[in-house]
Amino acid sequence: MNHGLRAPEGWSRSPRDTNEVFVSDVVGVDQQGNYALIGGRCTHCSRASFPLRDRCPHCQSPEPIPLPLEGDGAVYSFTVIRQAAPGFSVPYVLASVDLKAGVRIIGQVEAAPGEVTIGTAVQLEVEPIGEDSTGRSVIGFRFHLSEEDQA
Ligand SMILES: [Zn+2]
Repeated sequence: MNHGLRAPEGWSRSPRDTNEVFVSDVVGVDQQGNYALIGGRCTHCSRASFPLRDRCPHCQSPEPIPLPLEGDGAVYSFTVIRQAAPGFSVPYVLASVDLKAGVRIIGQVEAAPGEVTIGTAVQLEVEPIGEDSTGRSVIGFRFHLSEEDQA
């Protein structure tokens, strides 16, 4: 999972707190000091991608610039996971979400299975999702149902 991922300029891959650990290197600290998913925005075709790679997956142009991914999206498809590895409570909803930034990301939705359907408005959050074997807080990402109804 490390291959092709660069350390973006102005970003950090180290959590602010030594009692925290990032779930993988798709999570980082952006230029404003916020935890975010690290996506990319192509300087040639302007399209977004995830994760950040050395080349734009759309046009092969080199060096997309880092793009913090967060905020609003809508469920494109989903499945209910009823069997999982130890440490995961089931059932949970795994969804493919179209973010407004223009990328599709797969992640867990913090909601009961019946609350999620195609088109459900969700918010991407980078937040603690559990603890590792040494008791550090694992910072990962998941989706929450959007608070507001669509205006
Ligand atoms: Zn491109």
